[in-house]
Amino acid sequence: PAKLHPPPPSLPPPPPPHFILFPLMAQGHTIPIIDMARLISDRGAFVTIVTTTHNSTRFESVIRRANSSAHRARPEIRIVRLHFPCQEVGLPLGYENLDVLPSPDLLKKFYEALDLLQGPLESVLRETDPPPSCLISDRCLSWTAEMARRLNITRIVFHGMSCFSLLSAVKIRAHKAHLSAASDEEPFLVPGMPQPYHVSRSQLPGSFLRLPDLDDVRNKMQEAETQSFGVVANTFEFLEHGCAEEYRNSISKRVWCVGPVSLTNRFNLDKFERGNNNPSIDEAQCLTWLDRMEPRSVIYACLGSLCRLVPSQLVELGLGLEASGRPFVWAVKTDRRPAELDDWLVGSGFEERVKGRGLIIKGWAPQVLILSHVAVGGFLTHCGWNSTVEAICAGVPMVTWPLFAEQFLNEKMVVEVLRVGVRVGAETAVRFGDEERVGVAVRREAVAAAVAALMDGGGERMVERVRELAAMAREAMDPGGSSHSDLSDLIDAVVKRQAGSRAKN
Ligand code: UDP
Repeated sequence: PAKLHPPPPSLPPPPPPHFILFPLMAQGHTIPIIDMARLISDRGAFVTIVTTTHNSTRFESVIRRANSSAHRARPEIRIVRLHFPCQEVGLPLGYENLDVLPSPDLLKKFYEALDLLQGPLESVLRETDPPPSCLISDRCLSWTAEMARRLNITRIVFHGMSCFSLLSAVKIRAHKAHLSAASDEEPFLVPGMPQPYHVSRSQLPGSFLRLPDLDDVRNKMQEAETQSFGVVANTFEFLEHGCAEEYRNSISKRVWCVGPVSLTNRFNLDKFERGNNNPSIDEAQCLTWLDRMEPRSVIYACLGSLCRLVPSQLVELGLGLEASGRPFVWAVKTDRRPAELDDWLVGSGFEERVKGRGLIIKGWAPQVLILSHVAVGGFLTHCGWNSTVEAICAGVPMVTWPLFAEQFLNEKMVVEVLRVGVRVGAETAVRFGDEERVGVAVRREAVAAAVAALMDGGGERMVERVRELAAMAREAMDPGGSSHSDLSDLIDAVVKRQAGSRAKN
């Protein structure tokens, strides 16, 4: 008989990888990263979120709940809180998030303070146990590239944007398409897109403007991205209509579409506290109000976390909602020049006139909770990418009012490609610091007309389309779906790279 050999000793399975997540301190960047942390942790990996002390208070209860869930057989998600050196750079104490910066002059200081986090972050990366396998870094934190290289950690970039807008920016730059227009207002073609479309220079993200103060910062970000292992995006393959694939080809990198990450919030309390442990309305009050309304009758209006429109423009929006004749929820940030807006809300009789029909939330609204209520039939949004995806997940069509950053590109995607939105008619970006000069750009009549076009009969096809997208979003996140597979693939790729570099050493 053939001589039997003992089976080779089986190799122990590799230890779970350790992901360090370091978001930019801005709600549109941090919120999806917190969701992502939970998704990665659900796969059994170690996860550490690095942020600053003030910022951690906004999400620690969500993480505490995730860690204490009954069936948890995986390592706890950890939060590392760094001191944000406001005083060291001349920023007022507590200015730890972009949503509290009152003027663009302070942006440079904010980035200086961020730069000072290099030493503390390096200590975290060197000392943390188990050693980090991967750093998911916000694109804005360019210096993490060099640190990750030095410490032999895989770095993956998070932009917080759609592949559609990322690809648009790549194509516009590559073809210098924006230089072909005769004026800032003249639309030019964005070439090389799966669905070419027109946009004007005045609608492009601020990164297309020459700003001597920030040019250097931006060049570093671009260089850092070139050195990274890949990009992770809060979107799903189908939604991108070919742009994810084309973006991969254009940057010659891995791009994992792992969203919509907001779908990880299944329970009301997680939806309610998402992004802020302490919203400006009570959960029961919000739900009771919505419960009283007819299905799909309410328009929800919210222009994101950073919007700084002047009071006169916000008043015009309020009057437009009133003129629409619809029930509405209006999340209005009153913390900037609060007296003026508050005076108007009360003094002009607005609050009294819309009583019962309009719910005004002054401050932070529990957006995902509101959007997922059956009473909500439309979302007036600034087209921030998170808000856009959240509307899609909820199957709610949009009135689009882009303001700045890549929001006009998102509007093009929503209105022209996905065909699930109606434009309010904003034509020009309102850059940070430019709000006073722009003043009132969108009139109440335009608001009322867009709401009517969306919600009075004509929007039926849009509702069907956005509901189909909502179903596809869920499928993408379920086991076997594209986003579920992309997240598995991302984790595998990190484990393989780590094993490869161990073998070399
Ligand atoms: N958001 C919220 N309540 C608010 C304002 C914003 O929950 O009152 C959340 C919203 O759900 C989204 C994020 O904050 O997840 C804003 O990100 P987005 O990309 O839409 O816009 P940005 O604030 O970055 O302009």
